[in-house]
Amino acid sequence: MSELGDLYQEMILDHSKRPRNRRELAPCDGRADGHNPLCGDKVSVMVRLDGDRLADVAFTGSGCAISTASASLMTEAVKGKSAAETGAIFDRFHDLVTGKADPDAAALGKLAVFSGVSEFPMRVKCATLAWHTLQAALRHDAGTVNTEKDSPP
Ligand code: ZN
Repeated sequence: MSELGDLYQEMILDHSKRPRNRRELAPCDGRADGHNPLCGDKVSVMVRLDGDRLADVAFTGSGCAISTASASLMTEAVKGKSAAETGAIFDRFHDLVTGKADPDAAALGKLAVFSGVSEFPMRVKCATLAWHTLQAALRHDAGTVNTEKDSPP
């Protein structure tokens, strides 16, 4: 494991042990539930909007270290952003964890800590669960999000 790898792992552990914004958000403007049956991760994401901006984002639920850390870091990354900006960040993050594109680490900021996930296809769903759930909360989708779109090839 490289030094950078160690640093990334430390940040993931830190966010999984002390998740940021893991709380109920009530009242909220959108809420969705996500479930990754492959790993047993469950997450609910709540959003409060100010116009098109995400005034506040929070999550509840429990899962593996990757899914919890991803939800925690996601809330920090998207707070204050517009729905379109959030979608753009998710696209870049998705490319990073699926290994599809050369990640622009500077643009991803702390989210770059998930670059190692691309080596573990089974873990991709853990890393993207909160993001899919956030997208659903922003679209006001009913029902539970599943992660089938991120099935390993
Ligand atoms: Zn998981």
